[in-house]
Amino acid sequence: ATPLSVMVGTGKGAQAGILIRSAEALEIAHKLDTVVLDKTGTVTAGKPVLTDVRAADGFDEGELLRLVAAAEADSEHPLAQAIVTGVRDRGLHPPAATGFDSVTGKGVQATVDGRAVLVGTARLLGDVGIDTTALVSVAAAYSAEGKTPVLAAVGGRPAGVLAVADTVKDDSAAAIAALQSLSVDVVMLTGDNARTAAAIAAQVGIGRVLAEVLPEHKADEIRRLQGEGRTVGMVGDGINDAPALAAADVGLAIGTGTDVAIEAADITLISGSLSGVVTAIRLSRATMRNIR
Ligand code: ADP
Ligand code: MG
Repeated sequence: ATPLSVMVGTGKGAQAGILIRSAEALEIAHKLDTVVLDKTGTVTAGKPVLTDVRAADGFDEGELLRLVAAAEADSEHPLAQAIVTGVRDRGLHPPAATGFDSVTGKGVQATVDGRAVLVGTARLLGDVGIDTTALVSVAAAYSAEGKTPVLAAVGGRPAGVLAVADTVKDDSAAAIAALQSLSVDVVMLTGDNARTAAAIAAQVGIGRVLAEVLPEHKADEIRRLQGEGRTVGMVGDGINDAPALAAADVGLAIGTGTDVAIEAADITLISGSLSGVVTAIRLSRATMRNIR
């Protein structure tokens, strides 16, 4: 592409709220045949809310909520913030926790009132030998509704399940349909559980879902798609997404997301709307057409 046409394209992008960092990004975007979307904060608004709680037999619901919120207090994960806010809004006061530790892509652990509290995925509890049989059917019902189930164990025993729900952004479904009409395959990539991811994917018309992917494996999934001969765009907002954004042929960061994601990306969608991905591809196609 000539420097002038790239300058024009970049300027048009800026006017449309799309910051294009390099000439290469603008030149490659027209070749994208696959766009991978992170779920939380990218397809969804990323503002999860605590919606349900079910205590296991022998556990009081209020006590469960206090212990879980105490364990989550030091976590920066959006789910943790939803839980802490939701528990406080219910008029409960979580005690202080000690020994807080986060397990990336799985959850947290801490000691609260002298008891070991584990909060997160079924895998997190299963990893330390806790029998989650009593919790998984409740968890499955929440995830079928597109909510993220958060399992809790106290003192090594299954203690209950909370549900956290995030809403799909208003224009996500329309943007995904527009990408598909440009012959781009759309794939969802998330650390969340497969059922929740499938429910959200169905709401926005995405057919292919890669779920329960640990943060350190997100970039591997991008490389695997590239290995199929695809030219891959990745759209994400989180710290977890940064390696995948860097691995993609074109990385697109949600402008309302983390600085780490923005720095790893080639393009920033300032408004955070997925329609920016469609605009970026159209702009690249127009720019490259003018050149030939
Ligand atoms: P995502 O790709 O959806 O942003 P992450 O990779 O950050 O997800 O986390 C994957 C899953 O691990 C979450 O969907 C959640 O089930 C669990 N998890 C991670 N951190 C926490 C936490 N602080 N509290 C509860 N669950 C958590
Ligand atoms: Mg995210």
